[in-house]
Amino acid sequence: MERMKQFLLEREKAGTLRRLSPLTRLGHGWVRLLDYEDELKDFSSNDYLALSEHPEVIGASRKYLEMFGAGAGAARLMSGDLEINHLLEEEIAQLKSKEAALTFGSGYLANTGIIPALAGRGDLIIADRLSHASIYDGCMLSGARTIRFRHNDLEHLEQILHEKRNEFNRALVVVESIYSMDGDRCPLADLVSLKKRYSFLLMVDEAHATGLYGENGSGIIEEDNVSDGVDIAMGTFGKALGSYGAYAAASRDIIDFLVNRAGTFIYSTALPPAVIGANLAALYLVKTEPQLRLDLHQKVAFFKKQLRKNGIKDDPGPSQIIPIMIGDSAKALAIAEELQKNHIYVKAVRPPTVPEGSARLRFSITRHHQEPDLKKCAQLLSKALRTISD
Ligand code: PMP
Repeated sequence: MERMKQFLLEREKAGTLRRLSPLTRLGHGWVRLLDYEDELKDFSSNDYLALSEHPEVIGASRKYLEMFGAGAGAARLMSGDLEINHLLEEEIAQLKSKEAALTFGSGYLANTGIIPALAGRGDLIIADRLSHASIYDGCMLSGARTIRFRHNDLEHLEQILHEKRNEFNRALVVVESIYSMDGDRCPLADLVSLKKRYSFLLMVDEAHATGLYGENGSGIIEEDNVSDGVDIAMGTFGKALGSYGAYAAASRDIIDFLVNRAGTFIYSTALPPAVIGANLAALYLVKTEPQLRLDLHQKVAFFKKQLRKNGIKDDPGPSQIIPIMIGDSAKALAIAEELQKNHIYVKAVRPPTVPEGSARLRFSITRHHQEPDLKKCAQLLSKALRTISD
């Protein structure tokens, strides 16, 4: 117990203690924290297309709940393999232009299941240094030798392949197409072209790109036209698609292999029917209403323009995730608190979620934000940055 108390005290002193903050959702991107009276506009949500509140998504979820019950009752390989799982997997395979797909309970479960299935002792995994924690945990579980390459630095990746590839049986390279805390993109086309010189499997996490990019909303893999070079496209249903769960899309052989080897798939209860209903409806909306993502991209462009107008010169990056770098954790927390006083809810993201000294405010833009919200947010942020830095 003493050890735990000490740990918590140290985190508190460093400004990196994590605390839960219960809230109620009021609709249209407004939230109310339990211990705070005012209504706040949420700038930390990944509900990019606002599909979590879409009537068709809620309707499909309700319909499946009533038709099939609250839970799947068992893992897929036991008696939980409701046929609606297959419908969802067919839709995903089509969206990702792959032969087949497999769903997982969450993105965390997908990464910690897929990676250890594909690589083990005697194999090499090379992952971007800023990969999500679930990717790292997957690497650790795998028992494979894991090397991180400098963020988005393909020369460094190539150097590692050049020096180490031959010492290992198989190699797996893991990247994200849009990085969750930095909002920048992996140069996928250049990465895929490395496959001409080195043999490796390529896995791309599209958690923050699914539903948002490419002609059909499939993701950055589609936008960059590299589907054939990506062996495993992984993504989640919990962000732009508005509900919960995750998927892997790949060749039939890889998917059949995962069914037999991915522990987090084999030993975990299948997605609840209501979630499958919501996911199917969200995919249908992505397919039939491209206006949803165009609307989001317009809001993102508007916010970036407002940031510049208000003297915030940081490069806002190419996506809907806009990190405002602060550096010091306590200062990041102080700015977030100041914004909260002005009805803006944005989280200060601090180490160990991000590297030491790179605490930031991570703004994510969603279709819940209207132009006046975005304008006001940029003005208040600019003011808070000036007052807190003085
Ligand atoms: N991968 C990335 C890149 C993520 O950002 C996240 C969620 N933060 C996950 C995986 C995990 O997904 P989930 O929340 O569905 O567990």
